[in-house]
Formats: sequence, C-alpha cells, structure tokens
Amino acid sequence: MREELLNMREEALHDIEKARDLKELNDIRIKYLGKKGKLTAILRGMANLRPEERPAIGKLANEIKEVIEEEFSKKSNELKEIVKNERLKREEIDVTIPSKVAIGHKHPLTLVLDEIKQIFLGLGYEIVEGPEIELDYYNFEALNIPKDHPARDMQDTFYITEDILLRTHTSPVQVRTMERRKPPIKVIVPGRVYRSDEVDATHSPVFHQVEGLLVGKNVTMADLKGTLITFAKMFYGEERKVRFRPSYFPFTEPSAEMDISCIACNGKGCRVCSYTGWLEILGCGMVHPNVLRNSGYDPEELTGFAFGMGLERIAMLKYGISDMRLFFENDLRFLEQF
Ligand SMILES: [Zn+2]
Repeated sequence: MREELLNMREEALHDIEKARDLKELNDIRIKYLGKKGKLTAILRGMANLRPEERPAIGKLANEIKEVIEEEFSKKSNELKEIVKNERLKREEIDVTIPSKVAIGHKHPLTLVLDEIKQIFLGLGYEIVEGPEIELDYYNFEALNIPKDHPARDMQDTFYITEDILLRTHTSPVQVRTMERRKPPIKVIVPGRVYRSDEVDATHSPVFHQVEGLLVGKNVTMADLKGTLITFAKMFYGEERKVRFRPSYFPFTEPSAEMDISCIACNGKGCRVCSYTGWLEILGCGMVHPNVLRNSGYDPEELTGFAFGMGLERIAMLKYGISDMRLFFENDLRFLEQF
C-alpha cells in the first residue's frame, strides 16, 4: 500500500506539471483528491491493514495529500498568471503605433464659405444667422412678396403649415436683423435653404446661400457696385472683369445680376459660359422701401443694398465642378481633392 501511495504521488505530480490550463488542472485535482479519486480509493484499502501499520500509512497519505495540494496551488497560480499576462498583452494599447484613423479636412463648400467670410469680415461685415424653419411673414410678406405675388411661384416652397415653412432663401434674416438692430447694419448671412426642386446637376432641394445687407445713411448703388466688384476681384482674381445687368427681385429696387468674365475661357466664349464669355454669380439691388418700412425703418432717411449668392454655384465655378450632386454624395475620391 505504501508503494501504491508513492506511485500515485509521482503520477499526480507528473500530471500537475503537464496541465496546460486551469480547467485541466481542476480535472486532475478531482482525479486524485476528489471523493471518488485515487487517494480515496487507496485509503479504502486501510481496512485490510494490520492495526499497527495503519498510523504510518495514514501519516504518509496525509503528507502525500499535502504535497499534492501544494503543487496544485503553485501550478494554479502559475496558470492564472499566464492567463492574466495574455489578457494584458491583448488589451495593451501601443501608443507608438501610428493612428490609422485618417484626419479629415474641410468640405469644399466650407472652404469657399470660409473664404467669402474672410473677405467680408475684412470689409467690416459681421456674420449673423437665422432660423431655417421660418414664418411665411419673414420669408415672403416682409420682403415685399404678398400672398398673391407671382414671385412666390419662382420659389417652390416646403410648407409645414400655412404660416410656417422651410426658408427658400437667406433673405428673411435681413428683416430679422433690421428689427433687432439699429443702423448702420453691415452683415453677411450664410445658411442652408430649401426648395422643392428635383435633384439634378444644378438643382438640389437643399442648398446654401450667402446673403449680404448694408443699411445706413446715404448708401447708394455706387456703394453696392464698389463692394461687389471688390469681392469678385478678391475671390476670383484681380484680372476678372465684372458687369451688372438689370434684373428683378421683389425685395430690391433697382435690382441687378452680377456677372464675371468666364473663368474657363477668360471671356472668349466656351461651353462653361454658354459662349457668352460671362458667368452670373449673384443677385443684388437696393433694398426696397417696403422692406425698410416693414423692418421699422424710414426709407426717406435710410437706404441700403443687399446681395445673395448660391454657395454651390460659387464653388462649382471656382473649382470647375460640373455636377452639384458631388457636394452631397460624400465620395472620398471627390472630397480628397480639396
Ligand atoms: Zn467661357
């Protein structure tokens, strides 16, 4: 029996040594020390021993049990340590690995808007903003476009209720600004506008405008022209020629469209400019007396000019982009060129 116990000890220590993980180790423990384990099985044979032999065998059995327990706990700690280290290794963050997350950059529309803002900030303008969900009053009525006015047909409008709509232009911010402030007023208003247009190369139900408004004493058409010619030359280059054509807007009188000499052909005539040599870039005019009155100003005392441009069109002309949809599709092959 002594022999049996010693053999079992060797066998157990060998198995423990070879255990590869905690589960295997636990199985080995049950195999030797469990209720139905080998040690219990051997000790059952004690009954057959002579009484005087029993204490020595009992003592040996206890010693062996202790040795095995000790080896178990050593091996168990060893395996736990390995598991912990492996987990730490997995979870380690190596701060020296270069980040794979590409840093983005500004969208071409933002780049163009930033440039426009810089020019007008340099001319002493302030940037103001207004709500995109607008009252019919500010979007139309206050801008001299009453309910039955045919100009409402020019702007297909998303109505929310009869009196609330998605603004069709940034112009409502003109009246909102004049109501809130005392003249002189010198602001530009960038923002998103909405029209129920089908999407195509030059139309989108959502696009961007930049509005400008200057109101004060003795402001004339000459101020308007001087300001916008300065802008065009700063933005498109000193060599650009500029012309104004008479036009019509309900909220300005007189009204004009401003053209610049074609960027693609320098005025000789090409496909970009439909062989006219000119590109239309914005609408402008002297603020209509009714708009001044609606804002609480006296048109006998104060005058002003306003202008508005579509940001997408400006960006398309500047970068030679032929399809407006490219701005909204977020194709990296397109965006990464700017
Ligand atoms: Zn051209």
